[in-house]
Amino acid sequence: MQRDLLVGRDLKNIVGNFGVSIFGIATFLLTVIAVVAVNQFTHFNFFTLSFFVVVPAGALLCGAAAASGYYFGSLLFHTRPTVLILIQILVVAAIAQFAIYYGEYRLLDLGNGRMASDVVSFSEYLDIYLSHTSLRVGRAGTNTGDIGDYGRILAFIQFLGFVVGGVSVWLMLRVYPVCEKCGRYLRTLAKKQQIFSTQEDFTRYYDNLFEVPVDGPHFAQLMKWQPGKGDKIVKGTIQTQTTLRGCPNCHTQRISQEVKVCGDKEFRDVPQLTRHIRIPDGIDLKPVVKAV
Ligand SMILES: [Zn+2]
Repeated sequence: MQRDLLVGRDLKNIVGNFGVSIFGIATFLLTVIAVVAVNQFTHFNFFTLSFFVVVPAGALLCGAAAASGYYFGSLLFHTRPTVLILIQILVVAAIAQFAIYYGEYRLLDLGNGRMASDVVSFSEYLDIYLSHTSLRVGRAGTNTGDIGDYGRILAFIQFLGFVVGGVSVWLMLRVYPVCEKCGRYLRTLAKKQQIFSTQEDFTRYYDNLFEVPVDGPHFAQLMKWQPGKGDKIVKGTIQTQTTLRGCPNCHTQRISQEVKVCGDKEFRDVPQLTRHIRIPDGIDLKPVVKAV
């Protein structure tokens, strides 16, 4: 029995990891196709888009888009982002970058019906591309002309951007809330914002909320309380964001609260006041958090 359970869990992990890989590779492929197609039709290479020459904004975004399959796949299959997935993202990113170069190489038309691929090999093309590439700076696309050896350095910076984009997706998964009991990803059930124009009101709310039973009327009252509603948002206005999440497997719920205080211009996070509270089993707070 115990053994069967273990085999079942291993099998679930293998199936999950396989599914995540399929999703991840699919979005990498789609990103490569999108970059090559956009370049082909508009002559705008999104992948090499950079700001201040060295900030590889295009590559960063491409990396995040390419790795998004790992993100959504992991959530769907309830697979934790392992180091193996991280390595996979790095390897697939490297292959994807070469695939982008290769796609551009295959589609590069020299005119008169001659394709670049008829004239030079891919490695020769890559050599020329990386050492004679010109650089487009910013949105205006100012051309800097030949940049010689910097082409290789830039390609490497773009690779780093691509990888950082992918790794940040992986890190987002690492911090994604998980059920303590069964390790499944929690699903967001309800969200609620509350505004407090005075510190006293906020303190009364924040300090008392979890002092009272969460399934009682006082808790529901506090969750509905909007003492600052309608008041002008000024410096010092406090905003709370409550997120109720639940485990799709065991239905355990968890409340997360984030607090923001309005500064001179905008709301700023107060991370010291962030809290996560596990709700006792069998209590469903969805109607309470959803209530207006
Ligand atoms: Zn659970």
